[in-house]
Amino acid sequence: MALARISRNWKPSSGTNSIIPFSKTSNPKTVSRILYLQSLTKADHMNFTGRMTRGIQGYRFGHAMRISETDNFHYASLDPTKPGDKPRVVVLGTGWAACRFLKGIDTSLYDIVCISPRNHMVFTPLLASTCVGTLELRSVTEPVGRVQPALAKHPGSYFYLASCTDIDTKKHEVYCETDDSIHGLSYEPYRFKVAYDKLVIASGAEPLTFGIKGVKEHAHFLREVSHAQEIRKKLLLNLMVSENPGVSEEEKERMLHCVVIGGGPTGVEFSGELSDFIVRDVFQRYAHVKNYVRVTLIEANEILSSFDVGLRQYAMKHLTKYGVRLVRGVVKEVQPQKLILSDGSVVPYGLLVWSTGVGPSQFIKSLHLPKSPGGRIGVDEWLRVPSVEDVFALGDCAGFLEHTGRQVLPALAQVAEREGKFLVELFNKKIGKQNAGKAYSAKDIDLGEPFVYKHLGSMASVGRYKALVDLSQSKDTGGVSMAGFVSWLIWRSAYLTRVLSWRNRLYVAINWATTLVFGRDNTRI
Ligand SMILES: Cc1cc2nc3c(=O)[nH]c(=O)nc-3n(C[C@H](O)[C@H](O)[C@H](O)COP(=O)(O)OP(=O)(O)OC[C@H]3O[C@@H](n4cnc5c(N)ncnc54)[C@H](O)[C@@H]3O)c2cc1C
Repeated sequence: MALARISRNWKPSSGTNSIIPFSKTSNPKTVSRILYLQSLTKADHMNFTGRMTRGIQGYRFGHAMRISETDNFHYASLDPTKPGDKPRVVVLGTGWAACRFLKGIDTSLYDIVCISPRNHMVFTPLLASTCVGTLELRSVTEPVGRVQPALAKHPGSYFYLASCTDIDTKKHEVYCETDDSIHGLSYEPYRFKVAYDKLVIASGAEPLTFGIKGVKEHAHFLREVSHAQEIRKKLLLNLMVSENPGVSEEEKERMLHCVVIGGGPTGVEFSGELSDFIVRDVFQRYAHVKNYVRVTLIEANEILSSFDVGLRQYAMKHLTKYGVRLVRGVVKEVQPQKLILSDGSVVPYGLLVWSTGVGPSQFIKSLHLPKSPGGRIGVDEWLRVPSVEDVFALGDCAGFLEHTGRQVLPALAQVAEREGKFLVELFNKKIGKQNAGKAYSAKDIDLGEPFVYKHLGSMASVGRYKALVDLSQSKDTGGVSMAGFVSWLIWRSAYLTRVLSWRNRLYVAINWATTLVFGRDNTRI
């Protein structure tokens, strides 16, 4: 019998097998879940003892053993470190926060285990550019093995391609499941657990859909490289198919109507890229249908509400000039080829991109950890989760607890990166140096100065070689703000220097140069 799959809402048994009374259910799914939960208490755990790959059928990673088909109550584990071993830091995620932490961690002090459903970091500020071919997808990704080579080399340090589904903070264990989105697996997803000395949660956030019907099914999100790839394919498909004989005028208009929901920086940057693509590339290469292509940006309030009012106006004027229709409206429902606004108007679309901000993920919501206002994991000024030991959280999934008197920081890469930098110094210079890396050993140590965030400003490109640069620290304090071509140069240079590796900097620079000279690559692969 194959290993029973258990819903993501599953909670660890923490040593009890009485979570759901067995007699009260006859649902086969629930029964298999109970059997699984019961099995956790008597599991004959397999250790990950080395990195060598033995010739056992069903092996997935060099060091992780798959549960045998006939033995569904056994599951693999990475057991707690022993005295004399280096402390093990388990990091959840490979985003901005996690990668900044991984990049700087002193691997002579710690073993690192990174668990994430993707093996790379995404340089999100440039993701919109990949949707229309300004940049290649590879240019905005950084493999985690390059960020922290110890993950691929050091005995005791590993990268596991899986999602964490739960955490037992008392036992210092995380529970993981191979992700069902990983294609090509010839067997059922399975679970394993990993013991930690210190846990760093940096699992990010999820797009907000406000429970609007049809969004998840029909809209494209823009958070991952695969999303950008899907958007690009869909856009090019619509352009090509609309040229086929027999496509009605009405259908052409629908197919070539790109609708973006959400006027934050991501929505605006994507609309700007699209309008640039249309003006520069579509007009040349899809001239037969160029008059049908339209971009509409729908926003419930004001676009770029976090930017200075002058910059907002500039952006609105610029986008309108280059063909982006700005509509104020609230989406009520999304259907396969049209969406309905709350005033009853119907908007047919061929491509719909949803970008209305982020909120806590299901995983974060399901954790029994204190929460900050807004539902993120609540942390103190040192990014610790104060009610439990040895757990830290940072980036989009974390926010200051109310009692700290600090505001929850915005979901930004610069916040996540700065928090990663702070935490890695805490680990290297404070926890590590005071021999407090092992579980339950950092209770009364000196942690030094708390984390302080200073906003450096915001930038957004609006297409056609124009961008906005707002260097004010907040909306209420004044500061330098500028818009136009020079801002665009600043935007490009700033992001080029932020790209994590020299290899990617080179890729990005070459992509920008080839796009400038030859136009965008519009091959639909
Ligand atoms: C298109 C776009 C453009 C942006 N532009 C900017 C910008 O210009 N400037 C700026 O400051 N910010 C920008 N942002 C916001 C910025 O990207 C985020 O604030 C930042 O990525 C947050 O970093 P993070 O590490 O908290 O989360 P993420 O970078 O989202 O990383 C989360 C990681 O956790 C992993 N994960 C998820 N669930 C689990 C789980 N259960 N177990 C283990 N791992 C898990 C994910 O696979 C991922 O690797 C942009 C965002 C997007 C989407």
